[in-house]
Amino acid sequence: MSGVNLLNFDADQLAAFVGSLGEKPFRARQLLRWIHRRGARDFDAMSDLAKSLRSKLSQHAHIGCPGVLSDVIAADGTRKWLLDVGLGNAIEAVFIPEEDRGTLCMSTQAGCAVNCVFCSTGRQGFNRNLTTAEIVGQLWMAEHMLRAGAGGADTNRDRAISNVVLMGMGEPLQNYDAVLPALRLMLDDNAYGLSRRRVTLSTSGMVPLIDRLAVDCPVALAVSLHASNDALRDTLVPLNKKYPLRELLAACSRYLRTAPRDFITFEYVMLDGINDSDRHAAELVALVADVPCKFNLIPFNPFPQSGFERSSGQRIRAFAQHLADAGIVTTTRRTRGDDIDAACGQLAGDIRDRTRVGDRTARRVIPLTASAH
Ligand code: SAH
Ligand code: SF4
Repeated sequence: MSGVNLLNFDADQLAAFVGSLGEKPFRARQLLRWIHRRGARDFDAMSDLAKSLRSKLSQHAHIGCPGVLSDVIAADGTRKWLLDVGLGNAIEAVFIPEEDRGTLCMSTQAGCAVNCVFCSTGRQGFNRNLTTAEIVGQLWMAEHMLRAGAGGADTNRDRAISNVVLMGMGEPLQNYDAVLPALRLMLDDNAYGLSRRRVTLSTSGMVPLIDRLAVDCPVALAVSLHASNDALRDTLVPLNKKYPLRELLAACSRYLRTAPRDFITFEYVMLDGINDSDRHAAELVALVADVPCKFNLIPFNPFPQSGFERSSGQRIRAFAQHLADAGIVTTTRRTRGDDIDAACGQLAGDIRDRTRVGDRTARRVIPLTASAH
């Protein structure tokens, strides 16, 4: 592949690149539509661009997303791609179809440096930041594969993906510079045209960057709380030592001044005997009293040697009721795609644990299961 990867550019960056080829800025708009709305990869197919521009593009640029190592569909329709980002690293993207929406859960880093103790991505350690092309490439690939599957490969409408959540592998705010152009593309009418309310960034609590996001590109915000006091959160989310709860909750309140939604979603992983008692629930209610919020309880997803267990269904219901009784809208995440490990870094984590860099690729290519199509 020669030249720059155009999936790395948001609208302004693409306009600058097209300008550097001696072309008018509106050409960038056309190009953006071809790439992101139509899913084009081949410049020759871009019929309303002058031949001279197409030939310059072929010389200086390409359109490329991470290669698909596996593509599996669970019994409930959840679809998971394992993608090759080189040097033995794989990331994942998961599509979750629901009646009224289709949500793509995307990764932002290979591994993660935050090292939350209950997270298999964190346990893998940090490999590297993904580029904008590798982030937006997940959406580009998934949208156009899903549309092709639905028989509508070439339409400008009828998007398969209506919502995006940055809740896959990695801490998005620790890869801010690559994530920001990806977010802008998601919102751009010439690209994916999603409203800010339908794009959710989930963070473990990088306080200064929450403030920056509020200025640069306020999308819906989810914050991984997981504990009701600092002593407990210090042990679960090590970043808490740097940005303790008081500072984190203050950042959440500030964010709501520009946020597209009038609440923060707090994620709370339910760990048996660790953070799931009625006392924790009561402490949480007091903790978030000043922040308009909703809670999303996530039943812990076990992985080998995690040392944790999922809270019982009964305990989760009692915890949810406690929050609801205090007037907090609380949902419990349904476990989706259980049969394909489609949650929170499970598959890529599993593979990295088992194999060495040299022989990883062969093991990673998991054949499509019978349930796939
Ligand atoms: N790094 C970001 C986003 C990716 S993780 C963050 O931490 O917010 C997405 C969500 O999955 C987070 O709330 C995270 O804490 C949670 N999570 C991680 N490992 C999990 C596990 N094993 N079971 C359940 N939830 C988990
Ligand atoms: Fe990183 Fe999020 Fe996992 Fe924590 S939960 S280690 S921040 S991916």
